[in-house]
Amino acid sequence: MDNNSPNIMALAPNTSNKRETVCIFGTGDFGRALGHKMIQSGYPVVYGSRSTQISNLIPKDAEVLSHAEAAQKAAIIIIAIQRQHYNFLTPLAETLRGKVLVDISNNLKLNQYPESNAEYLAQLLPGSRVVKAFNTVSAWALQSGTLDASRQVFVCGDDVEAKQMVMNIVRALGLTPIDKGTLLAAQEIENYPLQLFPMWKFPIFLSLGLSAFFFCYCLALDVIHTYVYEKNDFSFFIAVTIPNRVCPVMALVLLALVYLPGIFAAIIQLYRGTKYRRFPDWLDKWMLCRKQLGLIALAFAFLHVLFTLVFPLRSFISWRTRTQTVSQALNNRTEPLNNTNAWLSDSYLALGILGFFLFFLLGITSLPSVSNNVNWREFRFVQSKLGYLALILCTAHTMVYGGKWFLNPAAYKWYLPDIYMLSLVIPCAVLVVKFVLILPCIDKPLTQIRQGWERNPKHSE
Ligand code: NAP
Repeated sequence: MDNNSPNIMALAPNTSNKRETVCIFGTGDFGRALGHKMIQSGYPVVYGSRSTQISNLIPKDAEVLSHAEAAQKAAIIIIAIQRQHYNFLTPLAETLRGKVLVDISNNLKLNQYPESNAEYLAQLLPGSRVVKAFNTVSAWALQSGTLDASRQVFVCGDDVEAKQMVMNIVRALGLTPIDKGTLLAAQEIENYPLQLFPMWKFPIFLSLGLSAFFFCYCLALDVIHTYVYEKNDFSFFIAVTIPNRVCPVMALVLLALVYLPGIFAAIIQLYRGTKYRRFPDWLDKWMLCRKQLGLIALAFAFLHVLFTLVFPLRSFISWRTRTQTVSQALNNRTEPLNNTNAWLSDSYLALGILGFFLFFLLGITSLPSVSNNVNWREFRFVQSKLGYLALILCTAHTMVYGGKWFLNPAAYKWYLPDIYMLSLVIPCAVLVVKFVLILPCIDKPLTQIRQGWERNPKHSE
């Protein structure tokens, strides 16, 4: 049979797919986990270690040699060793010349050293091609295969070819390389694993502070005031009534705070007559955490829905209903249906349901899996137009809840407005100013400024 026939070719082993040997310095937790994953993906692995004795923990098919011997066997060497031990590499400088060194190290504190670990490695071994990668993946995730949350591997380096070689390995391991540019990005990449919800800090502290304030406010007016003046013990309000007053207030105030920085930004741009000057730092930071503020607001709205649904189950509510029924029976009269109240209560519920629906829609579109599937215009439509509509509906929901009570002196215990009245201040201010901003005489220059026009070009930077 002809050796060149297609059948023979198909059966021949595909030698072009053979992976290159990878060397790993260090047989610690990360070195072993990465080696294990590499062997699974078809890479021959050789370890460089201070001790060449094979232990049970080392992946079965890997070799363990001295650092110098192991380095000679591969073009890529992964340094799975803490930065403070990098000095031991200096005598190996000649062996490591021209090799790709992958720095995977992390630090214990943000900006622990003046330069990143990868830059330090490049300074120690100027003849080698240093690439930063893998530091955001944990040894545990590599070993257990639970990499869903951390499939992204940030890669950076000054040598483009070396970076490509490392990115090919990352892909072969089933991970997603993200090219972050030159080694200058290494410090930022090393800081990633040390950050604790950086965008969530301000929204969380603000929400905690505001909810504590609103809770104490309700406690004073609904429990303490009633006890002092009516001698009624309503301390059980702490469990459901007060939380169900605080949650909607928080949801509304936080939703308004999502749109307030946009209003400030528009006013600043109109005042300066240009978009080319930076906003103050506080405004920049506020704008960056709008999504987080919105998600916390949605969580409060959810809690409000849940608390409202359990209302009929409460013993206090059934006691009040029974007492009213018995009192009507004893007085032998039936209260006529108050049509105005019926309208107010139904409108209040309808506005709340519609507002919550739009609120929920906003939350869904902010999920990466959804926002990645809509274009910029669609995203802006949902977040801006529907967002404002949600704010209008939720504000109206609260106003209708207040109904006639706004003008009733009995609603002002200790001369203080009720909590829902307080909650209306920011949303109403946002909506009124937004309404002014969309007036054609203001919207036109604002749109021009946002398209690059400047009132006084010498002010641009
Ligand atoms: P580890 O378990 O402590 O292992 C470090 C290894 O470095 C040791 O097993 C040892 O290997 C070698 N070593 C220790 N002292 C040395 C010295 N004086 N000279 C030369 N080699 C020395 O640490 P690890 O958790 O594997 O972490 C290694 C690196 O990976 C660190 O920079 C860490 O920041 C980074 N990292 C770790 C994780 C993780 O989840 N663990 C995740 C991302 C990044 P031999 O005994 O074989 O010489």
